[in-house]
Amino acid sequence: MPIDLQMQPWHAAPRPPTQTSVWVTEALAGENAAPPVPLQGDAAADICIVGGGFTAFWTALRLLEQAPSLSIAIVEAGLCGQGASGRNSGAIGHWWGRLPTLLRLLGKDDALRVLRASVDVLDDVRGFVAAHGIDCDLRLETSVWSTTYPSQAGAWLPMFKAAEAAGVAPPHRPLSAEDMRVLFGEAPYYQGVAEDNALRVQPAKLLRALRRLALQRGVRVHEASPVGRITGEPAHVRVRTEHGSVRAGKVLLAANAWMAHLPEIRPFVAVTSSDLVVTAPIPELLKQRGLLQRPGGVNSRMMLNYGSLTPAGRVYLGRGGGSIAWGNRMGPAFDFSARMTAEVEQDFRYLYPELRDVPIAAAWSGPIDRSPTGLPWFARMAADPRVHYAVGFSGHGMGATALGGRVLASQLLEREDTWTELGALLARARSGWYPPEPIRFGAAHAIRRAVARRDEALHRGRTPSRLDARLAAMAMSSLPDRLRFAPAPQLDPQPGETQP
Ligand SMILES: Cc1cc2nc3c(=O)[nH]c(=O)nc-3n(C[C@H](O)[C@H](O)[C@H](O)COP(=O)(O)OP(=O)(O)OC[C@H]3O[C@@H](n4cnc5c(N)ncnc54)[C@H](O)[C@@H]3O)c2cc1C
Repeated sequence: MPIDLQMQPWHAAPRPPTQTSVWVTEALAGENAAPPVPLQGDAAADICIVGGGFTAFWTALRLLEQAPSLSIAIVEAGLCGQGASGRNSGAIGHWWGRLPTLLRLLGKDDALRVLRASVDVLDDVRGFVAAHGIDCDLRLETSVWSTTYPSQAGAWLPMFKAAEAAGVAPPHRPLSAEDMRVLFGEAPYYQGVAEDNALRVQPAKLLRALRRLALQRGVRVHEASPVGRITGEPAHVRVRTEHGSVRAGKVLLAANAWMAHLPEIRPFVAVTSSDLVVTAPIPELLKQRGLLQRPGGVNSRMMLNYGSLTPAGRVYLGRGGGSIAWGNRMGPAFDFSARMTAEVEQDFRYLYPELRDVPIAAAWSGPIDRSPTGLPWFARMAADPRVHYAVGFSGHGMGATALGGRVLASQLLEREDTWTELGALLARARSGWYPPEPIRFGAAHAIRRAVARRDEALHRGRTPSRLDARLAAMAMSSLPDRLRFAPAPQLDPQPGETQP
């Protein structure tokens, strides 16, 4: 049977600026982009990429480095960067937190190889940004992995123990009680480990810069062109939009959670939202209230908070594990949700008590393509090996898409090199699945409610009920091992999602 993929119907819902990513608004305001060029008529390309986020652009640029004469078309439903790539928190991280999982699935040598690649890609991104003079507010800052309840003490110990067993040292240093007091003042932080030189950017500025470079190198970028269907024909694969199509020798599906409903992907990805609130720039206030040195980072809640300050003095805070997508099909709550915004604003008021009088200027949501291991994979569709895809970034795609760009470029060019070897290791590390609907949705809701009750109990210094603790442990087994307190099942059928 030739491949025939139906994409989710695309809803372009215009929203007020207070309900969209300020990073995207800033990035678009700072450029003189021509209006979008929708796909019209029949076109041909060597490679057609569906989706215009970091996966698409890192792959296109790495492909052209290796094969400059390739013709590449990128077909994006909205504007490039309006997906998760332009909505995220900008932390470009590594897989140190995944070390216990990697060791369990790959053994020491291969686990360390994958870990090293995830660390090396940070220099790769920095080098790329420097070499091309990209203005994306790239900075190295201290990032703290903290606990905000005493009961979360030592959340990072599994990572440290795994590292010790493997004879390597994570880049985190323990913070003393005095360090925590100096860094967080009256805010409710108990313990933490700090990573100096953590990499952060304004993600939409970086994405739009990659888009400009790709255009300069001859990539055809069609925006405002939702792909409806992808079909296999003997001589090529056809990518269809309402008004046109691209005939391509190969196709890369880079549509993130928007393609997680496809039958080959759905069992291995659970889509939930990550929701974020941001203040206006308040640099003077931050100075007056002693917050200029407040580090960003993540805490150890199951629906964990993440965030930081921007160079302009905005404060932003996000939270993972929000809305849940039935059958991985996303509604408007994955762009903005008043309910999730209210919940994350509560977290903001709790974690930034010094800013309780500062209004939230904007809030937005975005989808997370959570895999059972928290690791992505780069594969080909069984029904047609000309169709490649990348998925499972699990809320940590900033570094992983840059790594993925190199792996995918080599895979698309049929090379056999260190990148295809890395792709094979990530394929080997695939493990676990999620149950089908309606079990998945029902269980995910039950677990999410139990997690919320458990967190609330811990927050109030009470002991959570046994049922909530047990249900919450099921969600925990889908977390990176750094947050895992209970043994994971052999196959991890976890509907819960708790990552940024
Ligand atoms: C709120 C939030 C915070 C996050 N924070 C971090 C963080 O701090 N660090 C980190 O590493 N990661 C973070 N992530 C995850 C990270 O943003 C993603 O893993 C990464 O951006 C994935 O890139 P992508 O190119 O695969 O997907 P996307 O950027 O989502 O691109 C997919 C594109 O496909 C397009 N598309 C969808 N359907 C169609 C169609 N039918 N036709 C054509 N195009 C289509 C979409 O419009 C979209 O632009 C966060 C994510 C969210 C939502």
